[in-house]
Amino acid sequence: MDKPRVLIVDDDAALAENLAEIVAMLDVSVDVVATAAAALDRAASHLMDLALVDIRLPDGSGIDLISGLRALDPMIEVVLITGDATVESAIAAVRGGAFSYVVKPFLAPDLLDVVKRALGQVAVLRERERLRVELERSEHRYRELVDAVPTFVAALDTTGRISVWNERLEKVTGYSRGEMIGCSGQDLVRGGGIHPLAIKGGGERLVRWEMATVRARDADENAVYAVGIDVTEEQELLRRMLRAERLAAIGTMAAGLAHEIRNPLNSAMLQLQVLRRRIERGDASADTAKPIVGIIEDEIQRLERLVAEFLAFVRPRPLDLRPTDIADVCKAVLEFVRPEAEAAGVGQCHEFASELPPLSADPERLRQVLLNLVRNSLEAMPGGGTLTVRTRAAPGHVEIDVEDTGVGFADETPVFDAFFTTKPTGTGLGLSIVHRIVADHQGTIRVQSRTGRTCFTIALPAGLAMTTW
Ligand code: ADP
Ligand code: MG
Repeated sequence: MDKPRVLIVDDDAALAENLAEIVAMLDVSVDVVATAAAALDRAASHLMDLALVDIRLPDGSGIDLISGLRALDPMIEVVLITGDATVESAIAAVRGGAFSYVVKPFLAPDLLDVVKRALGQVAVLRERERLRVELERSEHRYRELVDAVPTFVAALDTTGRISVWNERLEKVTGYSRGEMIGCSGQDLVRGGGIHPLAIKGGGERLVRWEMATVRARDADENAVYAVGIDVTEEQELLRRMLRAERLAAIGTMAAGLAHEIRNPLNSAMLQLQVLRRRIERGDASADTAKPIVGIIEDEIQRLERLVAEFLAFVRPRPLDLRPTDIADVCKAVLEFVRPEAEAAGVGQCHEFASELPPLSADPERLRQVLLNLVRNSLEAMPGGGTLTVRTRAAPGHVEIDVEDTGVGFADETPVFDAFFTTKPTGTGLGLSIVHRIVADHQGTIRVQSRTGRTCFTIALPAGLAMTTW
């Protein structure tokens, strides 16, 4: 760092010389001038830390010079040198903004002491100013960064109000910083996930928010930063992909369906031929005809189920997404199958998480999912057992278990394949439908099974799922 610089302003050349010699004992550089005008001139061209000013100058008062010097550099300190020690001159000096004053004749140590203290004061002020500028610069840089990033950045204070609203948000939403700062931001980001972002003048964008909590030294200043990416197009693409995938699946299934329909049709046809022959022979008594009619009825029912379930699979109905209480759906399904369960000697258990993140889903479709899983479980426990339904929060997801104590199946069993069934009257479409509906919700399903314990787990994304079908 440069040496501190001291300006001596005195028209008495001998005294000025004397002062300069004393001050030079400190590690400073010294300038000497004789008039106020010269002092201002010098201070304008060189940064001065301290001026030692004779109170009486040929071209004015030393006190008046203080404001002139301060105008050039607000941090400069001035020590006045006066010939008389009256109270008035002391008051005038301090009023004028001098750091202190020294009365002639003075002792070198006293002068040095004042000069040191004054220079110390200037150093503190300059350092404080430097830090202030640096802080301002770093804040400016931070603000520039927040505004320059091509993502949405918002911050919420401890009360959930918006405290940062970056340029990208302003541009895309049309809502200015001034309008948004101080408004509640809870509905905007809701703890992360995908949510609609309203556009001024109508419409919305879909934004995936990630949250980061920044802990400040003062707990009151903790902030939650939300960084968001526009996923409107991505979600639209996903929707189209799902539709394409679905159409392909429908094609495969239609081929399978034709095959599946042939079995009951053949069987019914055969039974009808038997019946016709008996009628032609005249021995179609009620007793012999009855079992044959029964078989035909069963086959027709099977056909009906196949067609109904196939339609449930292919029906291109949009999801009716709405905030859904998953426990309510589970309870309703358990209630619905209670008579069947009781008849089969199956006890019901449920473990519902007390707090789950908000979830958008189509409750009617979810009911179908749970009903198919619960039915399979009941069918897997012909000799009784326990059916357990659980809900819980997982990172970014809500999970639902449907667990039974039934027969189970081996690892490689293709239970999700369309038309795969091990039941005499099964359609093999139940789990295909489950899989489809869960995928439409952008969720996943997994299963663990062994004899005595089978557990299907559905994971649905928390927040607002977007695919509409
Ligand atoms: P369906 O019930 O008509 O057979 P699903 O698609 O619902 O068709 O199920 C396919 C097959 O998966 C069932 O036939 C059964 O073999 C097996 N499965 C499904 N759920 C369970 C379960 N909870 N326990 C044991 N096996 C199961
Ligand atoms: Mg089934």
